[in-house]
Amino acid sequence: MPWLFGFILVVVISVWFARERALRSAQKRVIHILETIAAGDNPQSFHIEAPLAALSPKLEAVEDEKAHLRQQRRLAEANLQIILSSMQDGVLVADSRRTVRLVNPSLRKLLELSSEVFGQPVLEVLREPDVDKMIAVALDTGQPQESELSIIRSSTEIVLAVSAAPMRDASGEKGALVLFRDVTLLTRLEHVRRDFVANVSHELRTPLAIFQGWVENLQDNPEMPREDQATAFSVLQKHSKRLNALVEDLLTLARLEARREDLERQPLQIAEFLGELVRDWTTRSGSKQVNLRLELASDVPEVSVDRLRIEQVFTNLLDNAFKYTPSGGEITLGARREGDFVQLWVKDSGPGILSADLVHIFERFYRADKARSREHGGTGLGLSIVKHIIKAHGGDVSATSQYGKGTTIHVRLPVG
Ligand code: ATP
Ligand code: MG
Repeated sequence: MPWLFGFILVVVISVWFARERALRSAQKRVIHILETIAAGDNPQSFHIEAPLAALSPKLEAVEDEKAHLRQQRRLAEANLQIILSSMQDGVLVADSRRTVRLVNPSLRKLLELSSEVFGQPVLEVLREPDVDKMIAVALDTGQPQESELSIIRSSTEIVLAVSAAPMRDASGEKGALVLFRDVTLLTRLEHVRRDFVANVSHELRTPLAIFQGWVENLQDNPEMPREDQATAFSVLQKHSKRLNALVEDLLTLARLEARREDLERQPLQIAEFLGELVRDWTTRSGSKQVNLRLELASDVPEVSVDRLRIEQVFTNLLDNAFKYTPSGGEITLGARREGDFVQLWVKDSGPGILSADLVHIFERFYRADKARSREHGGTGLGLSIVKHIIKAHGGDVSATSQYGKGTTIHVRLPVG
């Protein structure tokens, strides 16, 4: 029987060796798959022989989960990129050493940054010590910082509202998130608003003070001679007219700016319209020896406009032209077609406007010749009303002038 025992022993040892070899091969396979996953690659197959075959679906599930996480991370990164690049505000992330970790496209554009900024000191990249200081304070105190920054880019002033908030990244390192918002327009509007209020107050104060002075004078002197009384009343009348004109102009401007009034468009025959204007203003000009001429091209098409508003435009333009043109001078009203527009103009042979003033005459309350305009009872609002009305019609208005020779105001209205 010893041969039988020997046979069994050989069989057992062979089986054990075979199992051991299979286990080692399966282990190698598992290690290979794990190494491939760890290297970030995708294993070609998850097949594992017995006795570790049960690990195969588990490793496949690990890889699936990893692929899913990778996909989610890619999506989150893509979303972050979309948010950063579609943000109007400039964004900068700085680390605890105040070097740049991230800037978005808006900030690059806003501050005209060079392409390589990652890892560079904020101070070197922005060249704005105030921003660098804000970041330092935010990092030190853990408190958000806010400030306004005024910079010159392409020779224009830009005002930026800057805020630096402390933050920590995923590894817990301190940093700061800095936001830059362009508030140039808002600041400009705020200035315009302040100027406007100051101008209105000033314009109201002058006639009101004169008014008050004369009323007191009349009260204190009940026996005032008739002639002086007549003078007083004519001054009061002149200034109440001035106040009335100012309030009317302000209301018109306010309505136009709020666009509360819709235009009541209707077809307008330019030739007929300008003809009527020449007729009316020739009689209105009275004693002033000014020659009013019409210069009309033959192909001027119809326009669709709010007639009352366009009448107001030409009343303002002709009022200026007559005001500033001395006796013996000439005023021309003209029209011609220019592509999809009708070009209209009011040309005078008055004193003209200096080019330094010419760029401002459409602004509210701007008067090139202040003394003269006031003496004529002008509010300085006429041309800004003109500009608003023409803009509301989809057209534009401009002025050319030769100082000492005359001024032309050009109005363009779309055909149709
Ligand atoms: P308002 O029109 O309210 O009576 P105004 O005539 O002073 O006042 P605008 O019509 O807005 O105000 O004109 C602004 C300024 O432009 C005027 O004060 C004047 O200095 C200048 N200006 C306008 N038109 C002429 C012109 N034809 N010739 C010379 N200067 C002009
Ligand atoms: Mg005017």
